[in-house]
Amino acid sequence: MVLSAVPVFARGRHLFFVEKAGWRVAPRHDGKVKIPEIREQVCAANQALVPADLVKLTWGNVSGMDRASGLWCIKPSGVDYADLTPADMVVLDLEGQVVEGTLRPSSDTLTHLHLYREFDRIGGITHTHSPYATSFAQACRELPCFGTTHADHFCGTVPLVRALTPEEVEAGYEHHTGVAIGECLRGLGLDPLEMPAVLQAHHAPFTFGHDAMDSVKNSIALEMCARMALHALQLTPALGSMPGHLLEKHHQRKHGPAAYYGQK
Ligand SMILES: [Zn+2]
Repeated sequence: MVLSAVPVFARGRHLFFVEKAGWRVAPRHDGKVKIPEIREQVCAANQALVPADLVKLTWGNVSGMDRASGLWCIKPSGVDYADLTPADMVVLDLEGQVVEGTLRPSSDTLTHLHLYREFDRIGGITHTHSPYATSFAQACRELPCFGTTHADHFCGTVPLVRALTPEEVEAGYEHHTGVAIGECLRGLGLDPLEMPAVLQAHHAPFTFGHDAMDSVKNSIALEMCARMALHALQLTPALGSMPGHLLEKHHQRKHGPAAYYGQK
């Protein structure tokens, strides 16, 4: 579906694309990727976390989805990034069953699974404990849009996902983490490809993308935005979000119907 000519506009702290059928954004990929390629992509995306300085030890995981087959894969749990090979990736279906792989999948697998099931356009998910974004999450602070760097990547304030209840933690911590993220995005009327990041209270960020590497790029952007936001708040503690018209302009020129950022 092609976007109408109706411009992006701001509602509250977030930007939206609008057309007659409702909220949506233009697809950027055709989704025709086979699972062997996904294995390679997910392995490379996990290894990309290290030079991007998003992880210490094994504190992060990336997954990627092949919508055509309904299969997806994720990093195995507790394996060093340097040792990963495409064959190590654990392949699962959308019921959460392991289809291929001998290693145990990431402990966050059920969070990823829920998000793939709830949002059928997500093609990749990254979860890290990158220090600046995690600082906002641990402080239970959403990440306001203070400048154009943020506006280029995120259509407004990066939301804070509520903390889980004791019952949710007891009944299935990782699954309910995904449920809370889904509730947050839907409650704010946000498309996870238009707002490809959330911060979970007391925990850390999750980012989304068209594919695995796209979600890693959004983690890099989020970490830089959080770092700059923290410095901006140190300089001006009462700083508010940037003006809406500038936020709209920067997001629209990169992601809007008449985007003109980059090469054709
Ligand atoms: Zn975590």
